[in-house]
Amino acid sequence: QKRVEKGQVGYFNESLRQRLIRERLLSDRLSTAIEENALRLVFQPILESQTGKVTGLEALLRWHLDGEEVAPVEFIPLAEQYGLIKTIGLWVIEQACLQSISLSKGSQPPSVSVNVSVIQLQDHNFASQVQSLLTRLQFDPSLLLIEITESVFATDQKTLLEQIQALQKLNIKISIDDFGTGYSSLSSMQNLGADIIKIDKSFINKIDSTGLSIIKAVMEIAHSMGLRVVAEGVETAEQEKILKDIGAHLLQGYHLCRPLEAEQLTEYLDSSTEQ
Ligand code: C2E
Ligand code: CA
Ligand code: CA
Ligand code: CA
Repeated sequence: QKRVEKGQVGYFNESLRQRLIRERLLSDRLSTAIEENALRLVFQPILESQTGKVTGLEALLRWHLDGEEVAPVEFIPLAEQYGLIKTIGLWVIEQACLQSISLSKGSQPPSVSVNVSVIQLQDHNFASQVQSLLTRLQFDPSLLLIEITESVFATDQKTLLEQIQALQKLNIKISIDDFGTGYSSLSSMQNLGADIIKIDKSFINKIDSTGLSIIKAVMEIAHSMGLRVVAEGVETAEQEKILKDIGAHLLQGYHLCRPLEAEQLTEYLDSSTEQ
């Protein structure tokens, strides 16, 4: 018995040690990832359910480390923990705007959503940095959407709300990501003046059981408050059909289109506007 316990302690120490080594390695490499050109964005279209028209693109960050792709769910928390998220976050916004401009070929660029961490919003300079960036790039702020997760509501921080309001003053739109998984209520969302709610994919995933009534309820209240709703993580034709039937306007998910590299995206957008 004792020997087993001792063995387990050894095992946990060892796996903890391994994890810390990996964290150190990753955060170290992440700190130079921008200069090393190891970061890039992929874009997942958000479509109008009735017409199939692309109404916007969500920028998703990718990191290639020595040929291995490290998942955002692993490296974003490290970027937050090791003080790298502000720099990376601004780079993401800059790249998203630049690529949106280059996709437009002179006409109106597509609107683009970027994910922003709570830590970025706790920075007094965030909104003004975004403003300078947009001015420098001559990017129309109303085409930029900032996706924040409900976790921003867990802490009622003054700076955070100030920054969100400053962004809205610039005409940047706010999306509440992963809706239904966190702490927010629809009324706190109304106070915030969010523009869009993204219903979390866990509800879409359960649409044939408990998910449907929740989706319907959220849609009804959101629409009565003048918010637009995106159903995220649509993976099957059946889910798409049910969502269309209940009047969901905006859809995003592997079934409609996977996140695409800039090059594939050009092709996709060309072929989807041809019809
Ligand atoms: P998210 O913002 O909720 O993004 C949606 C995630 O779901 C993406 O994963 C996307 O590739 C994936 N997805 C899209 N369609 C489907 C589907 O039909 N089924 C399923 N199962 N998944 C789908 P990804 O790219 O791995 O990103 C994971 C998370 O990492 C994001 O979740 C977001 O919270 C974070 N993230 C990604 N890029 C950034 C970034 O630039 N900045 C920050 N702060 N966070 C980011
Ligand atoms: Ca998102
Ligand atoms: Ca989400
Ligand atoms: Ca998420």
